[in-house]
Parts: sequence; structure tokens; C-alpha cells
Amino acid sequence: MVKKANNPLKIDYQTGIIENRLLQIRNFKDVNTPKLINVWSIEIEPRDSRKVIELIRNDFQKYDPISLKHLKRIRKNVQTSTLEVVLCSKEYIHERDEIVNKLKNCWTEAEKAGFQLKDELEVPEFAPSTKELNNMWSMKYWPLIWNGNPNDQILNDYKINMQEVRDELSRASVLSAKMAAAGQQYPIVCVFVGPSRQKGRVLVEDGRNCEGSLPIDHSVMVGIRTIGERLRKCAEKDATAYLCLDYDVYLTHEPCSMCSMALVHSRVRRVIFLAQMQRTGCLKVTSGDGYCMNDNKQLNSKYEALQWVGEEYPVGAVDQDVCC
Ligand SMILES: [Zn+2]
Repeated sequence: MVKKANNPLKIDYQTGIIENRLLQIRNFKDVNTPKLINVWSIEIEPRDSRKVIELIRNDFQKYDPISLKHLKRIRKNVQTSTLEVVLCSKEYIHERDEIVNKLKNCWTEAEKAGFQLKDELEVPEFAPSTKELNNMWSMKYWPLIWNGNPNDQILNDYKINMQEVRDELSRASVLSAKMAAAGQQYPIVCVFVGPSRQKGRVLVEDGRNCEGSLPIDHSVMVGIRTIGERLRKCAEKDATAYLCLDYDVYLTHEPCSMCSMALVHSRVRRVIFLAQMQRTGCLKVTSGDGYCMNDNKQLNSKYEALQWVGEEYPVGAVDQDVCC
């Protein structure tokens, strides 16, 4: 993790634009709607707080798959003068017996009467993006710690090779312009770049320009199929290869719902596109039905999405009603 000040990429955290060219595409409506999760909590006497904090540090914090770092661990109950402490997520420990066993190590039988274990507390899984919401959620659910907008960290963690981005977008743009000049109806191009970079590169044209093609032969679908065939041939050599895991995909046009969902299923890492498709696109919040397929909380997998906002790479014109 690189410090913000040392990041070689120039990032505008307000607008989400990297190097004045790449606009981050995320669904902030989802980010600012709390996703609540169940946690185990315990009500204790203030004198026991040190024991519990130690237990959390040694037995829970390191192993919990859900980071609860955005939560204050302790809340004071003014009426009873007791403390309520968040132990861990129910995702980490499901069974009451298991958690009671861990607590037994801290208390003697006699002392145990003094604590009350609860399993119904709901807290936000992630911190929101503004301080105002942070205060609001703290009042409504559980006290949160404000460490700044969590999206700043996401932007800061992007590892982007700008030269590769320029090269691939340029390649796609040149081919798209050539296809448009040749009178093709679907001058839509995409480039798949595998984790091994040059070796795993596939440049694909939209299949619908060819006679005898299927209506679903969008460039992304052709690309996924091409990589699948490649994988099948190399399966003996590399059994670890899995779908399009960690591929970066460069597109001349914002993908439609079918293609953007196929990219979720294929487990790509990142999508960078040039032209927005306002009616049929499925990534930007202002495209189509605003579904934001890459960053939708109803889906269990996500990918990074960025749009190139410079004028350097023109693309062949496509009717706005066409699904790309
Ligand atoms: Zn499509």
C-alpha cells in the first residue's frame, strides 16, 4: 500500500479522475446505503473491558474475514453504566457455543454471571463516503470512526500502467475507425490483456459484422469465447488458469448488460472503455437503467471500471440503440 503523497499516479480524489484521463466508475448510491451485518456483542462491567479488548486483539481481530476497523469497539450504556463491546462478525463465528468457549478463558464461572452475550446487533459493513453520513450512521446503528472517504483508499490502491492503457486504447481506436471507414455497422472492438500481459493479449472485433454470425456475438462475448478456447488447449500445461481471472479489458464502447454481466462471471479485474453508450451501456450510473454492473451490491463479484475521458482515441460511430 503506497502512501497517497508517494503515489506515482496523479489522482483527483474529488472527481475520481486519474492522470486527468481515467474516470473511476462506481455506484456511490450503493456505497452510501448501509449494508448491515450481524455481529456478536457482549455487555460487561467497565472493570472487565481490558480482558475483552485483549481477547478481541488475540482471538478475533486477526481472523475475522470482515474488517471492523471502521467501528468503535465499545459503547457505553448510560442507563445501566455497563459497556457493550463488539466481539466479531457472525460471518467469522456462527455458533454461540464456540464464542462462549472463547469467553470462558477470560472469566471464571462466578464472574460469567456478569456478562450478557448478544447476537442480534446489526452494524454497517463499510464506512460511508462522507462525514455527515458517518455521523448519521453512528447515531442510527453503532458509533463509527471517521477515517476519511474509504473511496480515497480504493483510488490510491489502483495500479495502472498508463503506457499500456494508451497503447491498448490506441490499438482498439485505430481498428474501430478502420472498420467504420469500411462501412461496417458494428465498429466495436475490445482487447483482453491477461495477467502475463503481451502473451495473454487478444484483440477482437464485434462478430456481428460477419455473415452467419449470431446476434449475441458482441466483441466482449467473442473475446471471452476466444480466451476460453485458448484455456482449453493449454489446460494440461496450466491447470491454475481460470476463466478471465485478473484480465484487463479495453473497449471502444461501454458494454451492454449481457457483456458487462459476462465480465462479472469471467472474473476480470478491470474494464476501461472509451465511448459511453447512454441508452444501452450498463456501467455508468447515467447509462441505461443505472445498474452499474461492475459495482452492484446485489452481485457477489465486482470489477474496477474506468472511462477514458480524453479526446485522443476516437471510435467508430454506433447507433445509440445498439447493444455493445
Ligand atoms: Zn454486449
